[in-house]
Amino acid sequence: MKGKRVDITMIEAGLNRFLADDRNLVLGFAKEPDGVSHRIFKKELSRFSLLNPYFGINGAFFLRRIFSKGQRLLLFLRPCEIRASVELIKLTQIEREGIIAVSVDCFGALSSKDSSNGFPDDHQGIADALRSSEKVRTACKTCKERRGVVGNGGIRFGRDGTLWAVSYDDKGDEFCDLFPGDHEELPAVMLVGEGTKAEPFSSDMTEFSKDFSKCIMCMNCRDMCPVCYCIDCVFNGSDYLPRGDALLNKIFRGGTTSLPSGKELFHLIRMFHVSQTCVGCGACEEACPQGIPLTRYFKGISERLQGMFSYTSGRSVEEPIPYLTFLEDELNDAAD
Ligand code: SF4
Ligand code: SF4
Ligand code: SF4
Repeated sequence: MKGKRVDITMIEAGLNRFLADDRNLVLGFAKEPDGVSHRIFKKELSRFSLLNPYFGINGAFFLRRIFSKGQRLLLFLRPCEIRASVELIKLTQIEREGIIAVSVDCFGALSSKDSSNGFPDDHQGIADALRSSEKVRTACKTCKERRGVVGNGGIRFGRDGTLWAVSYDDKGDEFCDLFPGDHEELPAVMLVGEGTKAEPFSSDMTEFSKDFSKCIMCMNCRDMCPVCYCIDCVFNGSDYLPRGDALLNKIFRGGTTSLPSGKELFHLIRMFHVSQTCVGCGACEEACPQGIPLTRYFKGISERLQGMFSYTSGRSVEEPIPYLTFLEDELNDAAD
């Protein structure tokens, strides 16, 4: 694998060159007085940050329904965010032409609920601090793909302290052209290796009911999931979650009901809806005010299901989502 050797100053200068074209934007991270957050840059980078050690939102969430022609948006995000953007392209929620997606090697992240000042600034310091932290999120501990190898291009860190801009296709070439120098062979050992497997999904419904018993049905988990995009969600009406007269009718028919009703149905249907596109980012768990371990269930079951179809969400824009394809003869060799 070849790439261009860069450093943070070169990256910032390259992105500013990209922004010199009036049609172009960059979505990445910026240092704010109270931490690091997503930011869209239009004219020039300011307080740009290559990494964000805290996870609050999956940046692909901001991309749903970008259909604008003629504008180009360079994404400079974590692998799970780029993977979600790839799924949204396949789900026709993003105009593919306008996106250049660059995934940056990721060392994991702490919950934004644990955010505090004083985290190291440089990538080696961030890597060391996260390696020794017990607070790394479940989604990151079980992350399948932390490497900047998804999307059109990547930023990779060598174990020797070097930084590399790498291209994976034509748009990635355009990204690498933002930097001077020739393509060289990447170091043999990179700082971020392959990830781990998610914990297997617990099919014990007693545990499931116990874990979700605290759910208040605020639906933040749905609203912040980058791939849960339907405008007309079936749970917005009163068919599944009756209120008012619909609730009274239900009680007259059935005698009694616990409230909020339909919790398990809500989560099981949502799980079914996102199981093939879930990127295991843990944004749902991050959004939950009740501390429910959503990642365990959503990531666990989706990776198991995707495995049956030899599918990895967000790995490639060319790889069709299994439920969008029909094969008469399939699942013969599926491992369960
Ligand atoms: S889920 Fe993976 S890619 Fe996303 S923040 Fe965690 S380690 Fe990084
Ligand atoms: S279900 Fe949760 S883990 Fe999966 S993509 Fe949505 S927010 Fe991320
Ligand atoms: S965010 Fe938490 S409390 Fe709200 S619906 Fe989801 S699981 Fe329930």
